[in-house]
Amino acid sequence: MAIAAVTTTKSSRRGLVVAIDGPAGAGKSTLSTRLAQALGYLYIDTGAMYRAVAYLVAEKGLDPRDETALEALCRDIRIDLMETGGGLKILAMGEDVTRQIRTPEISLLTPQVAASTAVRHAMLHLQRKLGESGGVVLEGRDIGTVVFPDAEVKFFLSATADERGRRRYEELLEKGYAADLKETIAAVKERDRADMERATSPLKQADDAIVVDSTRMTIDEVLELMQRQVKEREKRIDI
Ligand code: C5P
Repeated sequence: MAIAAVTTTKSSRRGLVVAIDGPAGAGKSTLSTRLAQALGYLYIDTGAMYRAVAYLVAEKGLDPRDETALEALCRDIRIDLMETGGGLKILAMGEDVTRQIRTPEISLLTPQVAASTAVRHAMLHLQRKLGESGGVVLEGRDIGTVVFPDAEVKFFLSATADERGRRRYEELLEKGYAADLKETIAAVKERDRADMERATSPLKQADDAIVVDSTRMTIDEVLELMQRQVKEREKRIDI
């Protein structure tokens, strides 16, 4: 059993569990951050948690297919999510890795690490602990299907692979990374494939998820739609 810790500077507030799943580049991070802010909920970026594990795997020179090594790594792993006002800060074993986990190399390594049963088991445990008292927006791939199948509101965000690749490309340029559009679209497609084809908790739409295709929508339009859905649900269950 993995012993691990995740802390945030803000404690969860009374409220719903909102699950936001979808493929890479669908706008989940921006929308989850803004939705959590608007609702006064805690934002939990589960992708950043898997990325932090991948960072440790790379740093220690581990083979992502070596399940025994990954199991040992998860036994005393520590990942902290800290709200800083200017976004989430991610710490892996106490080291600030917020920037390092966003490189194209870590983006490609993460799905391989996330396919490990030991890693998923450890992250599932942590994510459930963080969300159990409600008032949370959890963003990932398997939140509505596996982590919180009873979440009160579930969204599945999508957009075409070309559009998602284009968005990711612009995001990389904005952050000062050198990027190539074609390569970024190909990397997005490769991540989709790895995330959808893995045996444990593959990326899949929950039957009861609200599906939002954002290909031709602005962030503000999607956010408004999501906020309306959550508010309606809050009213119905008297939060
Ligand atoms: O959301 P983000 O793109 O940062 O996620 C990075 C990777 O982490 C995904 O491509 C996926 O392999 C993995 N992941 C996952 N389950 C989650 C969240 C992310 O497997 N709930």
